[in-house]
Amino acid sequence: MALLSTIDFPSIIKKQDGFAHGRVDLHCHSHCSDGSLSPQTLIDRALNYQIAVLAITDHDTVAGYNIAQDYLVEKNMPIKLISGIEISTSWQGFEIHIVGLNLNVNHVALQQLIKDQQQAREERALAMGEKLAKCGFPTVYEEAKKIAGKGSITRAHFAKILFQQGHVGTLQKAFDQYLGKKGRNTQRAYVKPNWCSVEQAVEVIHLAGGSAVMAHPIRYDLSAKWLRRLIVYFKESQGDALEVILPQMNPQQRQIMLNYCLEYNLHASTGSDFHHPNKWSDLGRNLILPDGAIPVWAQWE
Ligand code: AMP
Ligand code: MN
Ligand code: MN
Ligand code: MN
Repeated sequence: MALLSTIDFPSIIKKQDGFAHGRVDLHCHSHCSDGSLSPQTLIDRALNYQIAVLAITDHDTVAGYNIAQDYLVEKNMPIKLISGIEISTSWQGFEIHIVGLNLNVNHVALQQLIKDQQQAREERALAMGEKLAKCGFPTVYEEAKKIAGKGSITRAHFAKILFQQGHVGTLQKAFDQYLGKKGRNTQRAYVKPNWCSVEQAVEVIHLAGGSAVMAHPIRYDLSAKWLRRLIVYFKESQGDALEVILPQMNPQQRQIMLNYCLEYNLHASTGSDFHHPNKWSDLGRNLILPDGAIPVWAQWE
């Protein structure tokens, strides 16, 4: 196996062949937010799947980066780790996720945004806890806090506890019945979050020297008209790239995203959005960018 020092990172990530692209995963989660694996275990898994370039993109935190980077250096592993984050934003009442890649994790503007977002997370969690207590589930908040530990607290932690305590039959039902929002309908424990704007997220990512990527454009439940509006707004906000590839996307959806990239002069990114080992998705699987896409990493020297 090649040592880190023998890997020619620029040629791996710039090569246009499928093999090279297939070894890149720029969206996944560790237990620093709502993923189940530690940053070290994620790295081990990535190595196992022969991934050459990995970004850990936890919700509103970069805490996993230094842990994973120290581990890579200690074990001298042949993986290039790209710093990353997934920032929650609000746009027209929708929650839009902006991934920041290849940024300076210590930049003051980024650190300040993370602090504000974490405060918004804590406040929303507390308010969700109060609503759930009124639903007759008084201990969900403290249990969710416990499993989130020092990491970002998310609705996924609440869903897990609602499931473990037997209040819902599946994690999806926790969102459908308590935590989620569908169109104008909010569920019983839904609390409107106080996230930053798309523009702010992009600006801070750029101040920290990174690239701003719109995460999973297909997952926002937007009509074609509204999705186009969002992409136009993202472009006007100086956004850099769209996630053209997620494992769940079918060829037609991939083509539509590629067309948006070409039409609006946006780069393309690829990632699994891996959270937990399961049957349907894994790190690095089925992530090859289509011909004609300009990879987001073309911006990185
Ligand atoms: P949050 O960032 O606190 O709003 O938590 C949202 C996270 O919950 C997402 O990143 C997903 O990992 C997870 N999740 C799972 N199912 C759903 C769902 N149906 N709706 C929203 N989030 C979900
Ligand atoms: Mn998540
Ligand atoms: Mn997301
Ligand atoms: Mn994600």
